[in-house]
Amino acid sequence: MILLWSIDTQVEPSWMALMQTAADYALHAEGVKRECAVSLRLCDDDAIHEINRDYRGVDRATDVLSFPMINYPAGTTAGQADKLLRQAFDDEVDACMLGDLIISIPHVLAQAEEYGHSPQREAAYLLVHGICHLMGYDHIEEDDKRSMRAMEEKILSGIGMARDEQENSVSDETLLGLAVSARERSYSPYSGYAVGAALLSSDGRIFQGCNIENASFGLTNCAERTAMFKAISEGATEFTTIAISAEKSAPWPCGACRQVLNEFAPGIRVLVTWDGHVEEAPLSQLLPHGFGPKSLT
Ligand SMILES: [Zn+2]
Repeated sequence: MILLWSIDTQVEPSWMALMQTAADYALHAEGVKRECAVSLRLCDDDAIHEINRDYRGVDRATDVLSFPMINYPAGTTAGQADKLLRQAFDDEVDACMLGDLIISIPHVLAQAEEYGHSPQREAAYLLVHGICHLMGYDHIEEDDKRSMRAMEEKILSGIGMARDEQENSVSDETLLGLAVSARERSYSPYSGYAVGAALLSSDGRIFQGCNIENASFGLTNCAERTAMFKAISEGATEFTTIAISAEKSAPWPCGACRQVLNEFAPGIRVLVTWDGHVEEAPLSQLLPHGFGPKSLT
């Protein structure tokens, strides 16, 4: 999912990475195969109050506002509306525009405190709630409300952000889906070989990465190392699984990436997916007799 950010208030950077992951997984959970985009504004209460008043005639601030671009027929959501998605394709963004979302950051903070969970979780929840609206869900009728709640929970528990921590388990299927989404952001104009990765840390966080090439070829960075370096720089220290996605052939990690994975997670599981195939191997099998931190002691 492409998020077109507009940020006019102070926001924790880690929230934005989580929102990107939640948005990617929302499309995957809904079964949408096309790349989609959402314009996402993070603002204060005055700004959301003004929009609520001017566009909806409601004279107060609120937590989240969504303005869908697509008019889904009753009982239909984005997963069953491929033709409508195609009609919403925007050449400039190179994706199907689902609509606009506005989230009030003061509401994120206040509601997190009220419900006794982290502001990250509240930010992810409001984003997911808004994206569900943009995908055609609503909560006016009791039946619709139930299916919207179910989809919200599916997305949040899939990325390890469910309200009930028992429900949280990031599956291989989630990681593979997030690796596919990360591939959309690959910068690979020279090789044309786009790769995406999703790395799961033991504390439940997911870090996505893509390969990033350079006109000075040797400076190219692989998707796996992008994900790993993001994770280390955000304070994650232990990792259980990495999923890697390419289009046409098995994207087993290159030698450099095996070495970097071995530095931090010699026991990590490596999943690769391409063209409908999935294969798995432990890193110890991909890098036998590896040279690592222990070799120096
Ligand atoms: Zn590599």
